[in-house]
Amino acid sequence: MSKIKVKTPLVEMDGDEMTRVIWARIKEQFILPHLEIDLKYFDLSVTHRDSTDDKVTVDAANACLEYGVGVKCATITPNEDRVKEFGLKKQWASPNGTIRSIMDGTVFRKPITLSNVPPRVRSWKKPIVVARHAFGDIYRDQEMVIKAPGKVELVYTPDGGEPQRLLVNAFKGGGGVAMAMFNTDKSITSFAKAVFTYALGEKLNIWFNTKDTISKKYHVRFREIFQQESEDRKAELEQAGITYSYYLIDDAVAQVLKSEGGHLWACMNYDGDVMSDMVAEGFGSLGLMTSVLVSPDGKYEYEAAHGTVTRHFRRHQKGEETSTNSVASIFAWTGAIGRRGQLDGTPEVTEFARRLEQSVIDTIEGGTMTGDLVRLSTSPNPKQSNTFGFMDAVAQKVEAGKSVAA
Ligand code: NAP
Ligand code: MG
Repeated sequence: MSKIKVKTPLVEMDGDEMTRVIWARIKEQFILPHLEIDLKYFDLSVTHRDSTDDKVTVDAANACLEYGVGVKCATITPNEDRVKEFGLKKQWASPNGTIRSIMDGTVFRKPITLSNVPPRVRSWKKPIVVARHAFGDIYRDQEMVIKAPGKVELVYTPDGGEPQRLLVNAFKGGGGVAMAMFNTDKSITSFAKAVFTYALGEKLNIWFNTKDTISKKYHVRFREIFQQESEDRKAELEQAGITYSYYLIDDAVAQVLKSEGGHLWACMNYDGDVMSDMVAEGFGSLGLMTSVLVSPDGKYEYEAAHGTVTRHFRRHQKGEETSTNSVASIFAWTGAIGRRGQLDGTPEVTEFARRLEQSVIDTIEGGTMTGDLVRLSTSPNPKQSNTFGFMDAVAQKVEAGKSVAA
């Protein structure tokens, strides 16, 4: 059987532990037998990052910018224990953080919905995509514990100018806490651009929310920048038949639980951090959550939202059976390949990705799934497969689909 040719190279970033095991199997079973594809391979395993002084992560991110589309396996973000476990030179930064800052990207998380794995929230019928602004606010703040009476001020000294001061609080009796945080117009604008670009591509209505009734300068600045972007792209929005709506965050949270889903929910950094976990759990399982990083000028990096599934990997290392869900990792590949096909103008490549996704969905909806989904499924007699048994079942569906199509 002849392979489908992918015109432009795809950047591949390998990773760690259980997801690395699954990764190799995805390539061998679903990708390489069917596609003639030039994979620009970067090994982002923690030991290789260490031996290259993390240069490999920077190179991989730059390759994503050069080629436009990448796919990444989950990776270990080392903490002290990991430094000991692998004898690392230091606690290297989170690869996702490094890639995000090089691509200046926004993270979109999208759940995979299945008819027999119902969302915990009954009104949700369609995926809710959460976009999190991943820069600034409390993640880049400065904080102080105040132990004794005194003044806390916010001071801004313009280059070459006189300082301007605002009193935050005059502590009198006892102490307390204080914090200062910031964001930049550049980063907020990049975020807004990425949100509109993604929503236009996927034809999703956009929701954005802040607490601008309370934060009359900081949050209002976010609202203004989003408003400007929606005016600049009014014609595109109309042409795509999608809308931009602004809400107060409390209103949005209530609305989202009552909604059917099917929209893009753009959130400030902290809101997105919290709400993306709420939405993930509300839809069922981390194993069904995909993630894509989009740069303001439309470069894409796809991955599963979950980590390296260390607990399962420990069992796998001991030769025990595991039932790890490979769906989000497979959808990272299909997301990237589908996008590659779209950007290259090669519908057969996009169609290949769509068919592989359908084979995964048909397998699960047919009652074969990993343990995490068995617990959630409404199928009468769900069949629990081990990690590789599930992938074999998908491969059979792919083959069956091909003979139907032929
Ligand atoms: P995790 O790998 O997401 O796993 C947490 C737990 O969630 C698992 O033990 C498992 O629960 C369940 N789970 C997650 N993915 C699953 C899947 N595909 N199939 C079945 N169950 C799944 O998070 P973690 O254990 O906190 O982190 C492990 C490592 O991953 C860390 O070193 C961390 O730095 C890294 N990490 C990387 C990324 C990334 O690269 N994007 C993201 C997060 C974490 P049960 O054990 O109950 O079955
Ligand atoms: Mg979170």
